[in-house]
Amino acid sequence: MLKIGVLGLQGAFREHKQSIEACGHEALIIKKKEQLQEVDGLILPGGESTTMRRLIERYDFFEALQQFGQSGKPIFGTCAGLILLATNIQGQDDAHLKLMDMVVARNAFGRQRESFETKLNIKGVTDDFEAVFIRAPYIAEVKEDTEVLATYDGKIVAAQQKHYLAAAFHPELTDDHHLVQYFIEMVKKYKLKLAAH
Ligand code: GLN
Repeated sequence: MLKIGVLGLQGAFREHKQSIEACGHEALIIKKKEQLQEVDGLILPGGESTTMRRLIERYDFFEALQQFGQSGKPIFGTCAGLILLATNIQGQDDAHLKLMDMVVARNAFGRQRESFETKLNIKGVTDDFEAVFIRAPYIAEVKEDTEVLATYDGKIVAAQQKHYLAAAFHPELTDDHHLVQYFIEMVKKYKLKLAAH
């Protein structure tokens, strides 16, 4: 069994805990940076990225989160969590953790489409994933070493770069746990890789 952390400062962290548990693994809601040492992978939940950043600073998480990613442990950013991972944010001078090489656009689906659900074909995961988008961002640019896993309306909404996974929607809000399961497989793979070093 793996132990997966969910950053528990703001947003939909409890739902993520439930979906990790539904996949048969242990979930730890992370409230203190020291807890990061206990987990094999980390989910950055959806919520509000600016608020989350403020709380990351307040609770002294910033460097610990960067080190977690730089040490090769997998991180899955969903919605606001995807924004936190990105190296660049359109229209903003600076980004947040800058761990995954991509340009993101915030609140990118326009006012009429503040929130919606749609079926997505996610490469290597499932072809009818029920995706819930809430004031969602999209990924405007990725690097060559990044695999695009899903698009919607011609826009990238899920991608993977090495041990980083990003989704513009909220995979924790339905009973479809395929994408979390996919992340857990990544965590398994990278744990073996790290152990071999
Ligand atoms: N629009 C939010 C932000 O910029 C993200 C929305 C979400 O996580 N559901 O942080």
